[in-house]
Amino acid sequence: MHIRVKTCQQRTPKPKWLSRTLPKGGVYRQICETIKNNELATVCQEARCPNQFECYAKGSATFMILGSRCTRNCRFCNVEHARPQPVDHNEPERVAEAVRQMGLRYVVITSVTRDDLDHGGAEIFAETIRAVRRKNQQTLIEVLIPDFQGDEQSLSIVLDAAPDVLNHNVETVARLYSKVRPQAIYQRSLTLLRRVKALKNNMVVKSGIMVGLGESDDELKETFRDIAATGCDILIVGQYLQPSLKHLDVDRYVSPEQFSALGLLAREQGIKAVVAAPLVRSSYKAEELFREVSQRI
Ligand code: SF4
Repeated sequence: MHIRVKTCQQRTPKPKWLSRTLPKGGVYRQICETIKNNELATVCQEARCPNQFECYAKGSATFMILGSRCTRNCRFCNVEHARPQPVDHNEPERVAEAVRQMGLRYVVITSVTRDDLDHGGAEIFAETIRAVRRKNQQTLIEVLIPDFQGDEQSLSIVLDAAPDVLNHNVETVARLYSKVRPQAIYQRSLTLLRRVKALKNNMVVKSGIMVGLGESDDELKETFRDIAATGCDILIVGQYLQPSLKHLDVDRYVSPEQFSALGLLAREQGIKAVVAAPLVRSSYKAEELFREVSQRI
């Protein structure tokens, strides 16, 4: 059954390549129950990811720790921007238990940005990695982290817990930062990626970019070059989708053919593995990508 993935009354009709086929079967419902029963949040649901049906049906999900309210207000993001909840120190164990119940071979853990906390909540990231490891020795762990306001100690706290993949999204080109993610700094995000490779050379480093926010292909080429120069191993390039009318308009819908060309462009800049397609997201097919790249590092 084909349905057009509908997000709020968009001005620009969405092209057919953004329609999805909903997977059949109860795994999706099982995953939703496991998440609910363990009182957890996922970025899949909070950010209204178009792939959640497919990923859940495959038994994978991206857990969002440190609450569901973010201290920042990026203009593309559907996560609630409000006074954050108190830190829940039992959350790491609950994530580990959900991973066990779901039998995940690969888990992605992300968070809202908590600029209100010392170290931005890095300790909870580290404790979650350790808790998952204790209960699920075979599970590979990817963490998608905020920029911790550039704090080196916060980054080290996470790296010392030894995740398998360290992911941090650059999100867009430098010129658009003030419009798209005003509380972030382009060079700060690049520095974070560079620091990880400097501190943990064998760690797989990953980043992501959205297109359709007003960037030009020349700006994308420059951004790919900057990301490649950090030593980043994996890059995800996907289409920005407007979560609601409160968020930025979609400037353009990039066709699958254009995405292939962008993927090639990014690889030509020296990034080992690039997935560029309309509906890819940071943790989409994350395990496959990791297994592909980790053989080449
Ligand atoms: S920092 Fe992350 S979770 Fe917070 S608004 Fe920006 S993209 Fe969304």
